Amino acid sequence: MKRELRVIRDHGRQYIKDLRKQTVSDRFRGLPVISDMITPKEIESVSALCPVNAIDSKSGAIDLGRCAFCNECALLLPERIRFLNDYRIAANKREDLIIRPGRRDPLRLDESVVRKDVRSLFRKALKLRQVSAGGDNSCEMELAATGNVNFDFGRYGVEFVASPRHADGIVITGPITENMSRALELTYKAVPSPKIIILVGSDAISGGIFDGSPALNRSFLSDHKTDLYIPGNPAHPLTFINGVMDLLGL
Ligand code: SF4
Repeated sequence: MKRELRVIRDHGRQYIKDLRKQTVSDRFRGLPVISDMITPKEIESVSALCPVNAIDSKSGAIDLGRCAFCNECALLLPERIRFLNDYRIAANKREDLIIRPGRRDPLRLDESVVRKDVRSLFRKALKLRQVSAGGDNSCEMELAATGNVNFDFGRYGVEFVASPRHADGIVITGPITENMSRALELTYKAVPSPKIIILVGSDAISGGIFDGSPALNRSFLSDHKTDLYIPGNPAHPLTFINGVMDLLGL
């Protein structure tokens, strides 16, 4: 017994006490802030530089659903673009991921489009089946981390399960390749209704660097409504956790 107590004392508290207020390194790239002083010439140059076409060449807005968070734009124009370490960047409307010059507000879900059945049924327990639809295992690893001893998202009853029959929704990572499109549809159909869809990472949200590739088949997304978008490349566990907590009203 003494030995166990000594181990606990030496290890300290491993879990994050408050998943809402946990601070992360200043170097973490979360919500971007774009100065409204940015000029058309600067927008043109920074838009040409972006490797994933995430910056609109006219307005200068950054699409978080495409952004690879590589920081190249902020390095080119440090006076105009910077990334805050605010990891709460989930949205429930695709258009809300477009961050325009001059925007200062934090990114939050639009409560008016949150489904009532999601909160009444899943608030106390939400089981999710993860589908890697051509993913590179980066977002998948971050999602696995949400259940580890540090993040311990299971404390809210949110867990990943092996079978879609036991799930309340699916979490999609990867750009959705043709090879995975049928498996994705079958997995979704196997989840009992009502069910939710969560997209994690820029590949799942927009196709990322694979956008436009003939190897993709993203028709699933036009056939079914997405409930939550979690940006990142890969997405941070706290971005996923806080996005799901917002969706459930926790
Ligand atoms: S941080 Fe995002 S918007 Fe900026 S250059 Fe990289 S991918 Fe493009």
